Amino acid sequence: TYIIAEPCVDVLDRACVEECPVDCIYEGGRMLYIQPDECVDCGACEPVCPVEAIFYEDDVPDDWEPYVSANVDFFDKL
Ligand code: SF4
Repeated sequence: TYIIAEPCVDVLDRACVEECPVDCIYEGGRMLYIQPDECVDCGACEPVCPVEAIFYEDDVPDDWEPYVSANVDFFDKL
């Protein structure tokens, strides 16, 4: 799955939402989240993010690693 990290906080540009072919990017408070079970790993969202907040899960920078579990937890809580 792809992951949205810190640059999205309070930005929520939503260019990724337009791009996602399976509509698996959801708004949650101060940022957007990718539903990991729905994401088909197409990568379409990554280049359109103006703040470069989107990464493939294995490529998330170490500083933002907590966002990997935060994305998953967000949907577990729904
Ligand atoms: Fe949607 Fe593709 Fe991005 Fe996954 S990688 S969130 S399916 S646009």
